[in-house]
Amino acid sequence: MARILVTGGAGYIGSHTCLELLHAGHEVIVFDNLSNSCEESLIRVQKLANKALVFVKGDIRDQKGLDQVFQDHSIDAVIHFAGLKAVGESQQIPLTYFDHNIAGSVQLMQSMEKAGVFTLVFSSSATVYDEANISPLNEDMPTGMPSNNYGYTKLIVEQMLQKLAQADARWSIALLRYFNPVGAHKSGQIGEDPQGIPNNLMPYVTQVAVGRREKLSIYGNDYDTVDGTGVRDYIHVVDLANAHLCALNNRLSAQGCRAWNVGTGNGSSVLQVKNTFEQVNGVPVAFEFASRREGDVATSFADNARAIAELGWQPQFTLEDMLADSWNWQKQNPNGFN
Ligand code: NAD
Ligand code: UDP
Repeated sequence: MARILVTGGAGYIGSHTCLELLHAGHEVIVFDNLSNSCEESLIRVQKLANKALVFVKGDIRDQKGLDQVFQDHSIDAVIHFAGLKAVGESQQIPLTYFDHNIAGSVQLMQSMEKAGVFTLVFSSSATVYDEANISPLNEDMPTGMPSNNYGYTKLIVEQMLQKLAQADARWSIALLRYFNPVGAHKSGQIGEDPQGIPNNLMPYVTQVAVGRREKLSIYGNDYDTVDGTGVRDYIHVVDLANAHLCALNNRLSAQGCRAWNVGTGNGSSVLQVKNTFEQVNGVPVAFEFASRREGDVATSFADNARAIAELGWQPQFTLEDMLADSWNWQKQNPNGFN
């Protein structure tokens, strides 16, 4: 058992990770400003786990607030999800993204150092890979300048964490490079609840299916892929949550900074996702082809061998499971947590 501080723990991936941490017997302290989530997710997590966690409302840019959390709770390790993640928005308001994602992460590292806590799991992204790499992407491939400011913040924080661990051997840091998280907990009680019009494919598909949006725009049907539409590596959010527990176990007994891909290793096209969603759930998803979205690559999927070999992690869920669970959550909660 360890006492884990989870920044951004009320959000989509954070709430699923909190649930798995509680199931595994850990104590959980969530620190979240609720800018893109609500406390209801944590109420449901506690009901599902039949176990309490501690929630502290706060912003990672507030050093005093962070220091106080470390003083009040004897934290063993941190899982850091807090941050902003809308790619389009990051192009319009880069400074806000630099502030939350980069400055906020620096404040967190400073508070950790002050408190003598040196074990960290960081939410990174496959977007840090150089676009010239050919999938399957492995962790030894070069990173490159991401095409948007959101991705840039992930690359910068990764590099800062690597330098920090090089400079000070007390640090033990996992960089988890997520591919495309989708799905929801089996219960349908927690799931992805984006504000406004979804940017990502999966919530858009479920909102069309439930009647909240008219039709899906498929961005590009002339890529060099199986059917012309973009190929991605979709990973069930519960598999992703469990990767954090595996990374945590690994880091509690290791030093340095190391990156792991978290994906299934399988690529699925947008049309395959849409068609499989319709088959598995028996609901139609109206769509049209639209022009390519700026910054998108044709194909991105993981080589996940390192995570399997070193973390003892193994994805359990199929694409069908992911699509059934996404729909189960959306059906039970047509308007999300509200
Ligand atoms: P999310 O928006 O659901 O969760 C992020 C949480 O952080 C929210 O609860 C939000 O209220 C909180 N938050 C934001 N800024 C904060 C701040 N300054 N102080 C305290 N709390 C703050 O997003 P998610 O999908 O759960 O993503 C979690 C992490 O994983 C993020 O860092 C994201 O960039 C990263 N990630 C997500 C994806 C994805 O496709 N969902 C892919 C790769 C990486
Ligand atoms: N996509 C789409 N329509 C949408 C949203 C996404 O066709 O409304 C496509 C997008 O072009 C990409 C895939 O779905 O090929 C996954 O996009 P998403 O934004 O979910 O994740 P990304 O891989 O871009 O981070």
